[in-house]
This record gives sequence, C-alpha cells and structure tokens, in this order.
Amino acid sequence: MLTIYNSLSKQKEAFKPIDETNVRFYSCGPTVYNNIHIGNARAFIAADLLSKVLKGIYPKVTYVSNITDIDDKIIAAAKEENISIKDLTNKYFATYMEDIGLIGITPPDIQPFATDFIKEMIEYIQKLINLDKAYAIDGNVLFRVGSFKNYGSLSGRKIDEQQHGKRIEIESYKENENDFTLWKPSNVDEPGWESPWGYGRPGWHLECSVMSEITLDIPFDIHGGGNDLKFPHHENEIAQTCACNGLSNVQDFARYWFHNGFLNLGSEKMSKSLGNVVYIKDLLKEYNGNQIRLALLSTQYRQPIPWNKALLDQSKSIANKISEFINKHENIKPEFISSTEIAKALLDDLNTPKAIRIMQNLVQTSKFDSEEIATYKYIFEGSTQDTSIDSDTTQLIEDLINERNVARNNGDYALADKIRDKLSRMNVSIKDVNGKTEWKL
Ligand SMILES: [Zn+2]
Repeated sequence: MLTIYNSLSKQKEAFKPIDETNVRFYSCGPTVYNNIHIGNARAFIAADLLSKVLKGIYPKVTYVSNITDIDDKIIAAAKEENISIKDLTNKYFATYMEDIGLIGITPPDIQPFATDFIKEMIEYIQKLINLDKAYAIDGNVLFRVGSFKNYGSLSGRKIDEQQHGKRIEIESYKENENDFTLWKPSNVDEPGWESPWGYGRPGWHLECSVMSEITLDIPFDIHGGGNDLKFPHHENEIAQTCACNGLSNVQDFARYWFHNGFLNLGSEKMSKSLGNVVYIKDLLKEYNGNQIRLALLSTQYRQPIPWNKALLDQSKSIANKISEFINKHENIKPEFISSTEIAKALLDDLNTPKAIRIMQNLVQTSKFDSEEIATYKYIFEGSTQDTSIDSDTTQLIEDLINERNVARNNGDYALADKIRDKLSRMNVSIKDVNGKTEWKL
C-alpha cells in the first residue's frame, strides 16, 4: 500500500515489512548541544511523518530515534556556556522535546541515550578488533575501512574518490586516511569512561550501530536521517554493523534507507558564523506550531524547501483557513483512513503538498468530508502529546480572552485581532458562541 523512495536502490519501491506485526524504523536523532533550528526540524518532521503514516496502516510500529549526549560539540558548548556536560545535555534535551512537541512531532517510541550504552559500545568495539576489522593505537580505536568491501554503496562514493581534491593531514596513528574513529581518548577534564584502550569516549557513528541493533534487532525495516548523513555517518554505520555481524549486504542491516532533502535559505547557507540560523524557538514567537508544521510539509520530503518569510506567511494563511474549516467539526477525531484521497497522496512516497491541496479544495468548495478531515488532522495536526496545561496558563488565556471581548465591545477591532493572533501563537483557538467565547488548545 505504501510506496517509498529507497536511497539504497535509488528508486521508489513498494514497502514490504519484514514483520507486518511489528514494523521497525530507526532515525538518527539530535546531538543535544544547542536549540534546534529549522534544518534539524525538517529531518525530525520527515521521520515523524513516516512513522505516523506507518502507524496509520500497520498494527504496531516501533520507531526509535536516539539522543547523542556525548560528542565533541557538546564538550565545546559546555565550555562556552560554562556549565557541566550533564546540565547542558539536560537543558537542550528538554528544549528539543518542547520544540518538537510544539510543531506537532510525536516523540519516538524508544529514545535511547548514547551514554546509557557505553558498556555495549565497548563490547562492540572489542568484537570488531577481534574480527580484525578495527585496530587500537595510542588510546584510539579505528575502523579499518578497507576491510569492508561494500563501503560506499549507499552514497555511491568509492574510497579512493572520497578525499579527492581535499588536502587533509593524515593523523599519524591511522593506517589509512579513510579509517574512522570508534573510540578516542579523553583528557582528564573531559567526560570519559574506562575501557581496554584507556579513558575515553565513543565515536558518533558507533552509537547508532549499537543502539539500533539493541533496540530493533537486525535486519530492521527502515533507517532514516537527513541527506547530509548519508556520508560519512550512514556509510560508517553500515560498515560497523555489517562487519560486526559478518554481513556483506547493506539490506541485512536495514532494508529501506530514507533520507530527507535540504532546506535552502536563498543563496546563503545557514550557519552560526553568518548569524542567520533560524531557531524553532524564535519562529514560534511569530507563528504557531501548526503553521510552521504546514510550511515544513508544504514541500515533499525529498525536495529542497526554499525557506523564506513568504513561505511562512502563505502557510500561516492556509493553516488558518483549514483550521477554521476543521474547527466547525470538532467532533472529528484524528485518524488515518487509507481509502481517502489525502491518505492515497501520503501513501505515494509521502506526497504532502498533494495532500494539502486536496484539503484546500475541500475548504474552497465547502465540501464536508469527515474521513478526509480525520486523515488531514492525523497527519498535519496530529500531535498526540498531552495538552493539559497548568492553572497559570489557563488564567493567562482567560485574561487575554476578556481583554479581547472588552476591545470588541469598545469597537477596537484592531486590538481584538491582535489579541486573537497572540492567542493563536500560543496554539489557542477561540470560538464565539452565543455571546460567549470558548477556547481550546
Ligand atoms: Zn545515526
């Protein structure tokens, strides 16, 4: 029923799960050292979209996305913010969960933290050394890339070409410039664990091989991530997992490889040094989560999104029109109904722009179709997060509603609209019924 583009075969394929009673999907999660920006959010929303569609058609789906809580970037950020590693990763894990929740992303079923699997990572490395696929030198352990003959089969890069044109200093301890780190030594003031190779910490690529195998078993159905992870991250994961388990075929690790496209900020690249990083947190000051979600889903997941204010404003207007229409029928529960036109668009390699157009047509022609609406809600407004709120927030919302009613009674409609917008940014929708204002999140 579902067709999906497989980056490994480079074509759209009918999706056939290994076990229909438990579809297993792993997607690389965040390194928690900073607030999430719109480029990160695109990858998380693509994985969320796929997990929601899978959950719509299969009785059980296990969706795993890891948290990288040990990494050089984390160590550098903790120094910069002058707080401990633990405080930093706790802080940015919390903001990650909050931000993704606000744009309608449902947390994964399993969310393994890298530092909870250090013992297993050390065992994994030891096994690779015993198999002669890795070597230890000066407190480092490196994967011997030349020992895996299918290296590069996902990204299509051959080992010789990979560094072509790049002048790099080969670290003296490497047998080959392409060999990558499984374990590296930590200084005394850096986080680390005791290991057979001394005090140190795991390499990033290793984390995903270990956590995906432990949480899902191999082979599993789908492995996902951003396009930028294909090489070297996913190639290295493949090399490690296949080498450790005596496999030569990538599909004995994961059958389908799912990658989302980039997000373009015009001609400029989004970077901290250019000061043009778009954080979800900042966008949420101007747009509500539904509007941002719609903007991110307005382009099919594999295509580049041209990200700009016009796109956001257009998505805001579309989201508001659709919400207004949908809210006339509040009793409709979100549900993925495979026979609907919206579902059919999504089952065709997650064609979200087509699904949105179908919904827009229903709105324009005022055609009430409860099944299409249920399916739209499930995907586009489909957060299953707990939306209960504390009494302070309730009070704030009610105060704003009172202010708006006073403004309306005084004929100050500009102010009333401003307050409505403010409520909308708080994800509060309001409805005036028989002289009373009702609200809901
Ligand atoms: Zn990964």
